[in-house]
This record gives sequence, structure tokens and C-alpha cells, in this order.
Amino acid sequence: MTEPLYPLLSLSRLRMEIDGDGVTTLVAGAGCPLHCKWCINQKLLRHPPTPVSPQELFDRVKIDDLYFQATGGGVTFGGGEALLHTQFLQAFRPLCKGRWRIYAETSLAVPRRAVELASQCVDGFIVDIKDSNPHIYRAYTGGEPELAYENLALLKELVGPQRITVRVPLIPEFNSKEDQTHSLQILKAMGFTRLDPFSYIIKNA
Ligand code: SF4
Repeated sequence: MTEPLYPLLSLSRLRMEIDGDGVTTLVAGAGCPLHCKWCINQKLLRHPPTPVSPQELFDRVKIDDLYFQATGGGVTFGGGEALLHTQFLQAFRPLCKGRWRIYAETSLAVPRRAVELASQCVDGFIVDIKDSNPHIYRAYTGGEPELAYENLALLKELVGPQRITVRVPLIPEFNSKEDQTHSLQILKAMGFTRLDPFSYIIKNA
């Protein structure tokens, strides 16, 4: 079988409790099925990536091994859509030998199979669910909300709510505080407890 490669855009080291527990290294990768209007990564996503093998990436992040182990941190896959790279995540996981946690930043706008595979090799999920109102979701992302919300329910079934942080944004020009509150209520009713409401800060918005 061909070795999976990760389209590496950038590494950001020594992040503390930003995108996972403890100290993490954010590994930004190319590719995302959505087209969010205020995506802060779009500029980055247009840069040419460097394809790296699981071992090559491991060798680049292992410099922080002691920090990861001492704080219960590890490696966060994000940038674009982490769950586009589940084969890579599955190959990378054994290299960590259980000493590091693996986190994935995702919109869950991916095929159901990707969620099933990720549930087997990712410790913590940071889900940017956008908005529960279908009109707002479509207008802002260009994608379909049913896919993301069905996958969210599936992920909860597979790994439990404690391993999922759901980020719920207030999006300038697209939703209101009331919309955000409504999304939070729906997510609470679905059984999610790790909810992270936040606001996009847009220059000149
Ligand atoms: S899901 Fe994230 S990476 Fe993808 S377009 Fe939206 S903000 Fe950008």
C-alpha cells in the first residue's frame, strides 16, 4: 500500500491549552471542502504544501516530546480540514507510542467513513460547527449543514461527548447573538458539554 502523505503548510510549536490539552504543536495542512467567507486560513491554504510522510512529520515535531509528555499535550492537526487525512492520522498514531495525544480540528463536512476512521486514532476533536440554522450555514460555508450535524451525532456516539469540544462562532454579517445562543441550546440538547462560544474578529467587518 502507498504510504500516506500529509500536505504540510506550517508548524506552530509550544501552544498552551489553545487547541488541545497541555502543550501542543499545530500542524496545518492543505485542503478543505468548505468556503467560509471569513476563513483566516484561506491565504495559507493557497500556499504550496510540502508532502511529508508520517515518519518525517514525527521527526519534525519530536523536539517537543518532553513538553508533550509533561503536560499531557501532543499534536493538533488543523489548518484546513484534518479529517481529509485520516489514513495519515492512522499511520502517524503508532509512532507516538501512546505518549502524545492527537487532536483534530474539523468542521465535520467530510464523508461518514472519515469520521469512523478518525474516531479510532484521534484523542480529542475540536469541531467548528458554524451555525445550526441551515440558511446561515449554507450562506457562510457554501456547504450543507445536514452532513456536519449528522457526523457530529455519529462522532458523539463513537467517542462520547467528553472527547469533543464544539466551537460555536458569532459570525459578523451572517448570524446574531440569538442565532449563536440557539445553536448552543441545540448542542446542549444533543448532549454536548464542552461548548466554546466565540466571536470571529474581522478587520473592517
Ligand atoms: S472550515 Fe475552516 S479551514 Fe475550511 S474554509 Fe471554513 S474556516 Fe477555512
